[in-house]
Amino acid sequence: MDVNNVNIDISAVEPKQYPSNGYPEIALVGRSNVGKSSLTNVLINRNSYARTSNTPGKTQTLNFYNVDDKMFFVDIPGYGYARISKKEREKWGQMIETYLTTRRQLDGVILLIDGRRKPSNDDLQMYEFLKYYNIPTLILATKMDKTPKSKWNKETSLLNKTIELNEDDEIMLFSAQTKYGKDEVWQWIEKHTGV
Ligand code: GDP
Repeated sequence: MDVNNVNIDISAVEPKQYPSNGYPEIALVGRSNVGKSSLTNVLINRNSYARTSNTPGKTQTLNFYNVDDKMFFVDIPGYGYARISKKEREKWGQMIETYLTTRRQLDGVILLIDGRRKPSNDDLQMYEFLKYYNIPTLILATKMDKTPKSKWNKETSLLNKTIELNEDDEIMLFSAQTKYGKDEVWQWIEKHTGV
């Protein structure tokens, strides 16, 4: 899709604050610092629209990015941030669970995993959760520019071995730096949202 206009429409913590215009939504989840903002910026052709930072766990709201009045990207705050308190973690868990399990407009989730590492327990738990609720999922190994191409096959087989993939779900490789995989990710989004 050629994107012309993007607005961060809404930051929400609870359902009554979610957008009400009914556009399809694709949510982005993953550990803090995995590259969600960078992926968003590549998909919408901006250099620094979505906030990218080295401070993990800063965003604690669901951020809805309105893409051309056709759909939303929903940036879900990253998990695996050790320094937040137990109470904050519970609040965060509740916010995400409510969104993922009740949102009718949600057409799919992109689960980002650092391509240089084995999926963490948090990553695997998140995927099990998404499978349990039958939410179509794209597992995206990011930062692939940091892994030599000669090792990409090995990386893909490791992911396939570690993750019990639902037959409808997919694994792809991506780099925000080189934009590798951008078209394939858009195709996946278009297939699931119909935009
Ligand atoms: P978020 O916390 O998940 O939104 O992660 P960010 O998008 O803010 O990225 C965290 C850090 O990783 C930043 O310093 C980015 O520049 C870097 N980063 C993100 N994606 C890539 C990538 O594909 N390649 C490389 N080399 N760095 C990346």
